[in-house]
Amino acid sequence: MRILLISDIHANLVAFEAVLEASVNQWDQVMFLGDLVGYGPEPNECVALMRQLPHVALSGNHDWAALGRIDIESFNANARQAMHWTQATLSTASYDYLAELPPLTMDSQFTYAHASPRDPVWEYVSDLETAASNFAHFETNVCFVGHTHVPVIFVLDALQAVTAYAPVYGEPLSLAGTDRFIINPGSVGQPRDTDARAAYAVLDTDAVTLTHFRVAYDVAETQRRMIAHELPPPLIARLQYGF
Ligand code: ZN
Repeated sequence: MRILLISDIHANLVAFEAVLEASVNQWDQVMFLGDLVGYGPEPNECVALMRQLPHVALSGNHDWAALGRIDIESFNANARQAMHWTQATLSTASYDYLAELPPLTMDSQFTYAHASPRDPVWEYVSDLETAASNFAHFETNVCFVGHTHVPVIFVLDALQAVTAYAPVYGEPLSLAGTDRFIINPGSVGQPRDTDARAAYAVLDTDAVTLTHFRVAYDVAETQRRMIAHELPPPLIARLQYGF
């Protein structure tokens, strides 16, 4: 089976649609790693589009905030303002859908978490030390995570050394063999690796390969929709820098 592996859409419908268009016929099912809402201008539309797809979805910290499960005082001022708008905008149907999602799931081959296998809602796996200490917290060879909005591949080799590298777009990476991996496909709706394009990956569970991709989307259109809802200017500006 081929899985479209995506994370951190953050209510950016234009970016979500661009990923679906770019990856058409490349996958059989979607695996979404959480943060469907928060920051962006179209939370209900993103929930509705996800629900039309054959998919499994996780919840992220912004989804939990939208559900009122976490105190948004821990968010910075811009994220907090956007979250107040999101909470006021979210329909009952969207709320009920998000409320059913877990922050972590696994099958016989792979583990999937929003943030990290150790702390599926909050922990940022963005350095070697954090990655190294997380390998003890899942059983499968590979764990996929989102949350940092930065595509990255952490590898634990047979000598127990951990290394990190950026993906080579369009080139399948073999996940077979004895190495273990923690891999982030990057963010669809708010990339933070200074590349403004939407990020996604395709996982082939038979060949046991993962291929990362980027696709440009109409950033200005998402920005117009954010301006229309008076979302915070720094959140609007950052989309064009991918940071
Ligand atoms: Zn996020």
